[in-house]
Amino acid sequence: MAQIGETKGMILFSRDYKEKDKLIKIFTESAGKVMFFAKGIHRPNNPLSTAIQPFTEAVYIGNLKTDGLSFLNSAKDVQPLRKLQEDIFLNAYGSYILGLTDAAIEDHVYDPALYGFTREALQRMNEGADGETIMNIFEVQIMQRFGISLNWQACGVCGKKIGAFDFSSKYNGILCEEHWHLDQHRYHADPRAIYFLRMFNSVTYENINTINLKPETKKAIRQTLDQLYEEYIGLHLKSKKFIDQMSEWQDVLKPRDEK
Ligand SMILES: [Zn+2]
Repeated sequence: MAQIGETKGMILFSRDYKEKDKLIKIFTESAGKVMFFAKGIHRPNNPLSTAIQPFTEAVYIGNLKTDGLSFLNSAKDVQPLRKLQEDIFLNAYGSYILGLTDAAIEDHVYDPALYGFTREALQRMNEGADGETIMNIFEVQIMQRFGISLNWQACGVCGKKIGAFDFSSKYNGILCEEHWHLDQHRYHADPRAIYFLRMFNSVTYENINTINLKPETKKAIRQTLDQLYEEYIGLHLKSKKFIDQMSEWQDVLKPRDEK
């Protein structure tokens, strides 16, 4: 079924197709992820060229099909997220968020909640909230879309909610200190990392301005998230590899006296 339509959407990625054309993947609010074909996009002054830049939200107008390739004709209300387009770090965090969104659901699946959640993450970054923290919150919460449900609420053995916790795959969730001995293969994570991952699992982006993390806490969170993703999700996105490399440069670039 083909139909002419318009929908709000955000660019997931685009790639050249032959000399003058492009394939553009857009996460649309009304029809899920859709692959569009745009003809003659490399022509100078094509009004679509700004609308298909990475980190842009707009109303896209075209021939929207429920299966196969859709055709993109024009766009309006184009809203670029400038900071994400210009800052190499935010660009990397945002790219990983979009990569996860792209991997988490099938094409043409209507998912306005994920649309809103992704959009809000990118917008908060663009407004100046800490990019790494936003990305981490996104990573924890989007695990559900991959069908992974973990118990971050309370110890899987005794139900305790306060204290130091570790993560256990055996219990698919957290274990309190008293029950660490029940799982030899528990993560041995930094309890601060578990503390923040528990918070990230239920926090909304509105509340994050109050979260201010030290570099070593961020590092511990990163390590635990990597362990979780390796075990439960098993994705190896290029954008994530880039973030890993970036944190190595950051270490080199940072002044040595920082404690
Ligand atoms: Zn316990």
